[in-house]
Formats: sequence, C-alpha cells, structure tokens
Amino acid sequence: MLIVLEPEITPEQKNHILSILRGGGCLFREISEGGRCIIGATGNAGHGADYFEGLAGVAKVVPVSTAFKLVSRQMHVADSQIKIGDVVVGGPRIVVIAGPCAVESREQMHAVAREVRKYGAVMFRGGAFKPRTSPYSFQGMGEEGLKLLAEIRETYSMPVVTEITTPAQADLVMKYIDVVQVGARNMQNFELLKCVGRLGKPVLLKRGLAATIEEWLMSAEYILSEGNDNVILCERGIRTFEPYTRNTLDLSAIPVIRNLTHLPIIIDPSHATGMREKVSPMARAAIAAGADGLMIEVHNDPDHATSDGAQSLYPKQFGQLMRDIYVIAPVVGKQLDYGYLDKARAVSRMERADDGKGRKAAFLGEIGSFSHKACLQYFGDRVAPMSVSSFKTVFDAIADGRADFGIVPIENSLAGSIHENYDLLLSSGLKIIGEMTLRIKHNLIGHPGAEIEKIRRVLSIPLVFQQCRQFLDNYPEIETVPMTDTAHAVRQVKESKSMTDAAIAGEQAAEIYGMEVLEEGIETNPRNFTRFVVIGTKPVEKAEKKKSSIVFSTGNQPGALFETLKVFAENGVNMVKLESRPIHGKPWEYMFYVDVEADIEADERRDFLDLLKEKTEYLRVLGSY
Ligand code: PEP
Ligand code: MN
Repeated sequence: MLIVLEPEITPEQKNHILSILRGGGCLFREISEGGRCIIGATGNAGHGADYFEGLAGVAKVVPVSTAFKLVSRQMHVADSQIKIGDVVVGGPRIVVIAGPCAVESREQMHAVAREVRKYGAVMFRGGAFKPRTSPYSFQGMGEEGLKLLAEIRETYSMPVVTEITTPAQADLVMKYIDVVQVGARNMQNFELLKCVGRLGKPVLLKRGLAATIEEWLMSAEYILSEGNDNVILCERGIRTFEPYTRNTLDLSAIPVIRNLTHLPIIIDPSHATGMREKVSPMARAAIAAGADGLMIEVHNDPDHATSDGAQSLYPKQFGQLMRDIYVIAPVVGKQLDYGYLDKARAVSRMERADDGKGRKAAFLGEIGSFSHKACLQYFGDRVAPMSVSSFKTVFDAIADGRADFGIVPIENSLAGSIHENYDLLLSSGLKIIGEMTLRIKHNLIGHPGAEIEKIRRVLSIPLVFQQCRQFLDNYPEIETVPMTDTAHAVRQVKESKSMTDAAIAGEQAAEIYGMEVLEEGIETNPRNFTRFVVIGTKPVEKAEKKKSSIVFSTGNQPGALFETLKVFAENGVNMVKLESRPIHGKPWEYMFYVDVEADIEADERRDFLDLLKEKTEYLRVLGSY
C-alpha cells in the first residue's frame, strides 16, 4: 500500500507510522515525488488500510493492486534511472550494450571492444559462465574471462556486463564486473535472484523463455525486495510455436512494461531472432517502440565463434545499425550520442577553478524548455544546466566565465534559421563545439480539467505559434501572447490560475509544473526538428570533427559567389547548408552561411581554407565539431 502523508506531518507522527510497519515486519520505502511524501509498504502489518488512514499525519492510503509492489509504477511514478559509472539507463539517451556472446580470448575481446566502442556502444558484454543447452558445448572461460572483461573496462572505459549462473560466482563477479546479468534460463532461480538482490550491483534481468510479464516482474520484485533497486529489464524473445526465428521478440512488452513499472527496459534482438540479418530490423523497431536501450551480440569472426555466431553482427553491421538508431531516436524524444563516453570522461575531469565544482552550461529559458532538454541530452548530469533570460546572456555568461558552455537553437526545420544566434556567434568570437537535434513536439497545456473550447489566451514563443499555425487557425478567438521560452509560458499559465489560459510547450514542461496536456502534437508538420549548437571557448573532448560552419562575404562582381563555391566543389568538400543574410548597415549586401561535412580547421585542409580566403572578402570559421 501507499501511505500518502500530510505535508505538515510531524517527525514523531511519521516515526510512529514507521515503527508500526517495522513491528509488523513490513518492507517499506520512503518516496518523495512531486512534492508529496509517500511511504510505500509491502507485507502484512497486522492492520488494514483503514487503520493507517486513521493515523495522525496520514492524508490517504492507496492499495497497490498488482502482485508486484516495489517494481510497480504506482510505487514510483517517475522512470527509474540506473547509473553505471557515466552511463545512465532509463534517461533520455539510448544505451547500447554490445559484445560477443562469450568471452573467448584476449585478441577477440579487444578486437570487438575497439570496434563497438568506436561505433558508440557504451557498455560491453561477454559471457564468462555460459549456460548452454548441451553439457558438451563450450561452458565459458570462468574467472579468466572475468579478468579479460575487467581489462576491457580499463582499456576502453566501458562498464562491463556478464551473466552470473549460480550464487557461488558472486564473489568473483563482484570483483570484476559492473552489471550482473541474470539469464533467461535463470529468471526464476529465486536463490540467485535473492543473491543478486544483495550484491549491490545493478542487475540486468532477462525475461524467461516462457515467462509472462507478471512472472518477470515478480522476479524483479525479488531483487528489489532484497534492497537492490537497480534493475534493468531485458526482453530477449519468448518461446512460441514459430520456428522461423529462434524465439519470438515480444515488442509489445515495451509499452506494457512502461505502464506497469518504473524500471527501464532494453531489448536483446540477437537472442530473440537468432539470425544476423534479423537483428537490425528488430533493433530499430525496439527503439521506435520506446526501448531504453539494446543489447547486441557482435563478433569479429562470427563463423568461428564458440557460441551464437549465427546471430552475431559483424562490427560494420553494428556501425550501420548505430547510424540508423541515431536517426530514429529523436523521433521518440531520445538521443544516441556516439561520443558520449569520451565527453562524459572529459567533462568529469574538468573542475571549475573558481568553486571546484562541475562545469556549467547556459541555456535560454526555464527548466522544462526545449533548450533545457537539449542541454540534458547533450551533457547528461555531469554539467549543470544554468538557466538565463536571453540568448545574449548565454554568450555573455561564457565570455565572462560564469558558464563553461552554452547551448542555443540555430535552425528549425519548419521555421528556418534563428538569426539572432548567428549574429551573436559572429559578434562574440565564441566557437561552435558541438551540435544536436531535437524533435520538437508541441502540446497545448493547461490546468487539469481545462477545456480547449474555453481557452482564450495561448502563451508561447512567436516561433512556436508559426509552427502550430494550422491548429491555432481552428480557434480564431484565441489570442496569442509572446513569451521568451516555452517552459516559462507554462509557469505563467500555472500562476495565472486561469482555466482560459493555456501554453504551448513540450510535455516535459507539463510534467514539471503539474499541468495537463489538453492536446498533443499540435505542430502543423510532425517533421519538426530544431538543431542546437553547443558553444564554448574550446571543445569538450578531442573527438574526430565531422562538420564545420563558416560565414563569408564575397565581392560585388559577376561570378564572385560562383568562384567561391567552386573551391568547395574542387576540393570535394560537401556543403549541407547554404543561406544568405543581409549584412547590417550595408543594404543589399549579403553574408553567406555555410555548413560543410568536413573538419576545415584540420591541417590537411589548410590549402583549401587559404584558397577560400583568397576568393572571399570576409571569412570566419564559426567552429568545427
Ligand atoms: C546471453 O545474453 O548471452 C544469454 C545467454 O542470453 P539469454 O539468457 O537471454 O539466453
Ligand atoms: Mn548468446
């Protein structure tokens, strides 16, 4: 049951409730959510809900109706995020775990790890104890295998996950491994579940071959009931009558799990399909269906793998899959960041000289704005988001040292460039050091119970009104009120207490301010993406740079622009954006803004850049990233 406490409960009243629960042998957790304080309790305290409801300081008691309690969504409304070093499972970033089925040799481990790390995997897998159908099959390298996994973690800074098959391996696993996996065959090995519940390491719990979702969650409940909340669920296909694939991947488990539990869910399409060519399609589908991550078997020489070679991707195929997922993720509001591990490591090494604390990134708007979301997705929790009130302040904050980085929108797929930020980039001298794209899904947000027909004022950014024109045209009586950021608009509506006011913003803002989405996805075109650039004085990490942004102007004579563009063509530099903008104070003269797919500040591009300088009157590289 959930015991919801009164906000003004005294410490004595609370202790009284806890001592009754303790006395009754109940398991309980204190949960603080959305400003409410709740005690989640399981077990029979010897008293019913009525008794607890009658106690001083209790607002109400809500029974948890499912068989699983601690893992249930009722117990913990927000998604649980499982932290493994720099990796967070269940956050806005897609987590991809890759590696061979079994640890086979040092050469094999390094060959695979190097490749998957390069393509953006953030965790490495490999079985050292292999539960095989036949006793005559390779059973795993045991402790030698665990040592190799630990070596991979040290060499490539990737946390490692491996399967534990008996509580007797607990000490060894504790010594070498970051995440312990409970395999499908052991999902209902209750002694093993209790054991990993006490280990204090995150657990990856596979769904059993023939387990219902409820049985799977009951197994997770075993682990949580031992005090370990760090459980990642992994769907890996179930046994059905269908022989064309090794198992049948139950993708519908994703939305079902989302509803039932706060625990994150990842998908293992390798064991689900058993066939290499079916792994990538199912992996893409899993991300589109809302999975928090993937576990993929990859082998450098699958034909000679000791186990599961037929379902292991070649490293190159894995790389291609990662590119696809990179594109799909923003559609479902997530992000795949190839360089995330390097960035996280670089950022955690930096400490601010002034206060010895972590780095800060300035963004325009309030918590819950799209810029805030972009900031969280790009930097994770290693950089503190710093809210400021104008784009200019973002730039100023970096220039005067209050912030280390900034993140600003630069162009929108529907509304075009955000010129103010181009101008600020030109005048500030700061560099673009990274970029990221967010899908912008707008929602009409009002007070709980508000009705669209009665809304008279809508607050948001003017750019957002443009993006939602078709929806707004249906309600001519609505007045649009311009704001500087979407989250601020939601807060204004909340503070106005008016049922006839609404805001247009992302769903994250509605959640943060406890408001209701009255209508979802009201942007005219769903292909609404905003590209944000990360600005600073120097790059976060020394990763390979794939793009550059340039600004130039040419002389006012026939063929001047043509001559300049020829330099790009003749040097094989691919342009992905070309835009012209008037130069302030020089009517009818224009500046050209160009993005190219090359690191034009690299040594080998020096001649190209010199040629470009020759052909232009003014040239600035805004950054390579
Ligand atoms: C594995 O991940 O290597 C494995 C044996 O998986 P499962 O338990 O899902 O069969
Ligand atoms: Mn396997």
